[in-house]
Parts: sequence; C-alpha cells; structure tokens
Amino acid sequence: MRTLPQTPALDGWLVRAGFTGQQSVFVGDALSRKSWVMATININYEKLCTCYLFPEVTRQLKVFAEKNPGAQLYRLDVSDNTQLSVPTVVNGLTQTSERLSQSNTCGYDRHYQGEEFLRQAIGNHYDERGVKLGLDEIFVNDGAKSDIGNIQTIFGPQNVVAVQDPTYAEYVDTNVMAGRAEAHNSITCQYAGIAYMPCHERNLFFPEPPTQKVDLIYLCCPNNPTGAVATHEQLKSFVEYALKLQAIIIFDASYAAFITDPKLPRSIYEIEDADRCSIEINSFSSSCGFADLRLGWTVVPKNLSTEDAPAGKLNVLWHRRQSTFFNGPSIIAQYCGAAALSPDGRRECQAIVDRTLDNARLIRDALNSRSLVCYGGQHAPYIWAKSPSGMRSLDFFDKLLSEAHVVTLPGSSYGPHGEGFVRLSAFARRECVERASASIKENLRV
Ligand code: PLP
Repeated sequence: MRTLPQTPALDGWLVRAGFTGQQSVFVGDALSRKSWVMATININYEKLCTCYLFPEVTRQLKVFAEKNPGAQLYRLDVSDNTQLSVPTVVNGLTQTSERLSQSNTCGYDRHYQGEEFLRQAIGNHYDERGVKLGLDEIFVNDGAKSDIGNIQTIFGPQNVVAVQDPTYAEYVDTNVMAGRAEAHNSITCQYAGIAYMPCHERNLFFPEPPTQKVDLIYLCCPNNPTGAVATHEQLKSFVEYALKLQAIIIFDASYAAFITDPKLPRSIYEIEDADRCSIEINSFSSSCGFADLRLGWTVVPKNLSTEDAPAGKLNVLWHRRQSTFFNGPSIIAQYCGAAALSPDGRRECQAIVDRTLDNARLIRDALNSRSLVCYGGQHAPYIWAKSPSGMRSLDFFDKLLSEAHVVTLPGSSYGPHGEGFVRLSAFARRECVERASASIKENLRV
C-alpha cells in the first residue's frame, strides 16, 4: 500500500489490485482510506538471470579490438544466415508483392492457423516420413521462437519442467517468466524447481529421461548448442516415460533438415504413439533462409491428452490461444513457405543445408588437425568443441580469439554441463569459414 498523494477525487472509478490478488476497490474508498495499490509487475521476471558470460565475451572482444586495431575477426559465434538465397522463394516473394499491390489477398479473412495451402504442404512433408497429420493439427507461426515461448501458456502453472543441460535458453526463461521456477542459484547456475537433464560426453550429449516425475519435457534435436541428434531408441525412451507418467514432450525440431542419416528420426512422430504425448515445433529459418521472413510451425496432435484434459482438448486450447493472441503469420511469408516446400524450393533449400554441413566439415577438420576433440556438425549446423587440457570454456574462447581470431560462444553460457566446451556455428559465409579454418590450423597453439 502507498500513501495517496494529493489528487482530485475520481469517485466511481474502479482501481484494480492486479497481481496482489486484493479485491477491487472504488477510487472514492481508496481516497478516503488514504491508501492505494499501484499497478505491479510480474515479479517472475525479476528472477531471470542474465548470464554473466555475455558481458564478459563482449568485454574480451572489445579488449581484442583495442589491442589489434584492424585485425580481421572470423565470427563463428552468432549465425549469419540472413541471406535469402533460394531463387524459388525470391520468386514467391515477388509474386506475393504483386498480389498485395492488387489487393488480391485475404486480409483478416484468414486462417489463424495458417493458410490451408501451406498446412497442406507441411502435412505432405510429414507424409514422406510416414507421419499422417490432420490439417487442423498444424499451426503455422512467425518462427519457432514465438511458439517455443508461448506453448507453455496452455499448461498449468504448477507443472514441473525438464530441460537438457546445456540448453537453448528460451525453454527455461519462458517458464521462469511464467512462474514455474524459483530463485536462480549463481553457484550452480540453475533455477530451483527446474529439472536439468545432463548432456555430457558419456551420453554423447543426449540425456536419459529424468529420474524424477516431471510434466513438461523440452527436447531440442538436433541440438543447439551441442549438435547432438537422438536415435530412434533414445526418443522412444522419452515417449515411454511421457506415456507412463502423463508428461508432455515439447520437441524442438528446428534443425531437423540437417539430419543426413535417413535412419535417424527427423520428427518425434516417427516414434510409435508419440502423437499421444508430444508437441513438435519447427522452423523455416535455418534450412530455408527465413531468419528475416519469419515462418515456422507447431503440431498439436488431437490424440494428446493430460490428466485433466481428454484427447483433443490441448489442440482446442492452443487454437484458442493463437486466435486470441495472433492473427497468423504474414501472407508474404506463407506464400514463400509454400514456394520453399515446392520441388524446386526443396532442391534449393537442400543446397543451403549441404553448404552449411560442408562448412561444419571444414571447421571440424581444422579443429581435429590441432588434435582437438569435437562433436556435432554432422547432422547439425553446430560444432561442440572440447577445450584442450581441461581449460574452462571462457579461457578456450579467449585462446581461439587471441591466437586464431575466431569468435565462438563459451559452452558454459548454455548451462553448467556446457563448461569445458565452446560452440562454433557453421552458418557463416564460405569465405569466412575457409579463413577461420586456415587460421585455426596455422595459428592455434595446442
Ligand atoms: N529453436 C532453436 C533450437 C534455435 O536455436 C532457434 C534459433 O536460434 C530457434 C528455435 C528459433 O528459430 P526461429 O528463427 O524460427 O524463431
């Protein structure tokens, strides 16, 4: 409660107490009691921890630039996949702008789930892997990140969340914001209340199902940052866990297009009965060059159920959520998405994937030539390189920067089990990758 400042009387207006859960009071009453409740914030946001490593990485880059003015840096840290280099998609873009200029589009008379032609194309894409989906189970989005963040809103606030460690930060942060975690521990670098599934060399960076009962399990496969990919058996063990304990798997398949071995599953629905316990999220960003256009999709099967929701209910809730908060992705992106999934588009997108994986091969070869151990990069655009002689992530980051002028990301910024590794991204221009690889071979002292 705050002491009321001198203000004119506003009798009859309702003051809402908001998050405090207090009863609404009339302004007149609040004025006479000389006390009020202000608007308040979602205090869960206050729990969010900004990794201390990012400012440190920025500081080290600044120090390097000051000491080495004009030195060429090879940036394999953040992904440089902004080039829209798929001719069929560029054609789609031009045709859609013509349609738009003639007002020949749908305006608000549109499907919140995404236009049918695109959902049909996405459905066909699954069909090829033997997965049958109904069009009403596919929800097109403006990139995977939005749905990764929003999907948790259809689940109860008490649900216990499990994530891989190391992990893509969005799975954790969005659940912290939603109140599913307690305080951040600066020593363990973990939140109380979240279950972390360790990923290390012994399990080749794909975890076993949790030993405790959890409700929502986030899996990223192929994985950012480790580049690990799960086998059929490994995914089956998660599906069995989820079915037995009525948990839901949220499967981020954003990098599925990078899986080269046809025996490895590209979708969780290739596992029997996974449609009873899994939601899958995917993206056009990395494999089709859509990081700027923004497009992806989420599958919420009608067979999904929870303890308190019969089959079909989660699909209805997600539809309700999307039609309230979202008007569907831009029609431009949707036409481009259909172009990317056309036979020509797919051939051209495959060329992006092949080029990226070839970049990964060059980077791996360079690291191996210095006797460094690395993982990933074979079915994923990320290489997970082990620091030499037990060096910490940040020191290895610094070594690669100062000796080879290659910028990476310290593995420990993705979670405690990332300590002792750095992540290198193969999403870079070829020339940059070639020079970075040559510099590692010539200049890195191991
Ligand atoms: N999922 C993972 C694992 C990612 O690494 C990223 C982007 O870095 C995304 C999702 C976001 O993809 P989009 O561009 O479709 O939002």
